[in-house]
Amino acid sequence: MKLGVRAKLFAFSLFLILVVGLLAGSFLEHQRRTSIENRVESELLTVARMAREMITDLDVRSVETIDSLSDRLGAASDSRITVVDSNGWVIGDSELSIDEIPEVENHGKRPEILAAFQSGLGVNRRHSATVDSDLLYVALPYGIPSPAGVVRASVLLADVDKAITELRWSLFIAGVLGLLGATLLSGLAAHIMTRTLRSLINHAKKVSEYSMGAFVVGRDEIQSLAGSFNRLSEELQAQVEIMAWERDRSKAILDCMSEALFALDEQKRIMQVNPAAMDLFSLDQPPLGQLLPEVSGESQLGILVEGASPGRVVSTEFCMEGSGRRCVLARVASPRSGSGCVVVMHDITEIRMMEQFQREFVANASHELRTPVSVIRANTETLLDGAIHDSAMSLKLLNALDRNAQRLVHLVSDLLDLARLDAKQREIKQESLSVEEVVMHIVDILQPLANKKGQAIDLALHEGTRVRGDLQALEQTLLNLLDNAIKYAPDNGKIRISSRLAGSRVQIRVYDNGPGIPEQHRPFLFQRFYRIDPGRSRDVGGTGLGLSIVKNLVEAMGGVVGMEPALPTGSIFWFALPKYRG
Ligand code: ADP
Repeated sequence: MKLGVRAKLFAFSLFLILVVGLLAGSFLEHQRRTSIENRVESELLTVARMAREMITDLDVRSVETIDSLSDRLGAASDSRITVVDSNGWVIGDSELSIDEIPEVENHGKRPEILAAFQSGLGVNRRHSATVDSDLLYVALPYGIPSPAGVVRASVLLADVDKAITELRWSLFIAGVLGLLGATLLSGLAAHIMTRTLRSLINHAKKVSEYSMGAFVVGRDEIQSLAGSFNRLSEELQAQVEIMAWERDRSKAILDCMSEALFALDEQKRIMQVNPAAMDLFSLDQPPLGQLLPEVSGESQLGILVEGASPGRVVSTEFCMEGSGRRCVLARVASPRSGSGCVVVMHDITEIRMMEQFQREFVANASHELRTPVSVIRANTETLLDGAIHDSAMSLKLLNALDRNAQRLVHLVSDLLDLARLDAKQREIKQESLSVEEVVMHIVDILQPLANKKGQAIDLALHEGTRVRGDLQALEQTLLNLLDNAIKYAPDNGKIRISSRLAGSRVQIRVYDNGPGIPEQHRPFLFQRFYRIDPGRSRDVGGTGLGLSIVKNLVEAMGGVVGMEPALPTGSIFWFALPKYRG
């Protein structure tokens, strides 16, 4: 059976009123009865005492005097007075005539009379079949010290029962009134509660239907509500777990980000910072609660953050002074709600360096290409303008044409090599190569050039050494270094190629006794188009790209490259490749 909130409240109130009414009623009844009986008993005792005193004062204790006294006392005290002699025979009674007295049975065995004789006071309550009511008896001996009899006062307890009946009626009426009140109040309370409950239920219904698809139906409104709240709390728990997971994921993302990130609150104070930001500004502790310009020392960031407006992304680029001079692109985004903002900083130092490098490279390459192209054009025009008919002149011009065309070919071929290496288009193998064989092969190729300058090429190679690398790359490396040695060593100069083991690597050294390289130029030797003496380099057919190609090739094979001065003059260019462990 389904009971609504109102019915439940009413049933509960009824039960409460009944239980409380019954308990209170029986307690009150007991109290009332005891109190009335005590009062009646004490009144009877007073009457009995008076009777005793008066009997004691009688000059003549005859049946006539005692019965007459009993009649008067009974009438005055509204109770029954009975006097018995020491043998228990009635010698006076307020409700009997003197003629009836001798016929009255002996009272000596009545409990109150016996008690009065024995202990000086007898009290008894019992039912009288004659009057069909309870009676209370109080008996006192008279003529003490040797009792001459007992005087007894008694009264009908019908009054007590009447008072109790009245009390019961009062309680009943109070109960009925209470019940009526409870009905009204429980109805009112249920009305107010169900109204509040219904709005709560409707709300829970909407939320649960939105988040869980179905509203929980229970046996009554409260159970429906409880069911929905249980499901809502489960849903809440699930949401909290999802939020915790998302928080961990966001933290992982922030930790992995290479960009520096600062989250600022409404007062533009730092709330969150990621490890990349700590690195960028060399911070030991997260600077929470501080202002970004103070932490970074960059006033530009302050201006940027102040210029942030909700829903808009603003950015600025600046280079920080100090060691390393890092360039940064900073972006600020504010949520549409307008509370706080997020600053993300990209370290663009390398991008800017690369751009600068590319600009210089293009400028250098154009410059290098322009020179031979100009010579070729000028010589061709001169020939076409008539110099072709002058055989000596045309020979000179054609030689210059050939030299510059060759230079152009070298330049383009070197640029293409570098471009392929940069784009990692050139495949670099990792094969076992005999240092001796490769060196001999390159020496064979360049020996004629060295011979032309009367130069001797010495070899001091560690026997049977093998390196791990790419044959073409190793040959090109050696060709460039030996070509440079031949170019820059004087006529009849000395050149030596040696090899030696250096840990897990094999070092190959190319020595020449040329002019050497001044110390200030050494750090830049392997940069593209870097030349100590551009005029001399061009004269000897150099492009300024040879050493940078060497560096790229050696590093692509997992090796290192370097240069040392030789004594008294000259240079030693070296590279080391991983030893092959077959
Ligand atoms: P280049 O084609 O001009 O030789 P490289 O990149 O091979 O270009 O060399 C760069 C510069 O290093 C050269 O212009 C030259 O000034 C210097 N250089 C290279 N090798 C030697 C060497 N063996 N002796 C002296 N200077 C050298």
